[in-house]
Amino acid sequence: MLRSYEDQYPSLDLLNALFSQVLAHEGADAAAQLIKDELVRNPTLLGLDKLLEAQLVAAPAERRHDLELVKGLVAQHIKRLGMYRCEQCGFRAKQYYWRCPGCGKWETYTPRRTETPDGYVA
Ligand SMILES: [Zn+2]
Repeated sequence: MLRSYEDQYPSLDLLNALFSQVLAHEGADAAAQLIKDELVRNPTLLGLDKLLEAQLVAAPAERRHDLELVKGLVAQHIKRLGMYRCEQCGFRAKQYYWRCPGCGKWETYTPRRTETPDGYVA
């Protein structure tokens, strides 16, 4: 069910939820494949982060250190970029607001997170 929803309405949060489900029920390979497909359609840092996470689960000990290094770098960028953004004034926030703290308008935030300065439009 989540899969077809993701096809129709791709979003970072939905991909997150789907990834956790697939990882838990179908294993790391299936989860990695899901993310690879998604990255081809819609290349994002969050997708890359998830791909690394899936590979970490299955990685041999000697590769794990390198993967963790890359994942740490990607995670740093996501922290900076993975934000909500007001459509009215462009105010960015880490959490979702019904009312923008920047301009005071209601429901100006799309419920999707953004990865680019221009907004993440899926
Ligand atoms: Zn605003």
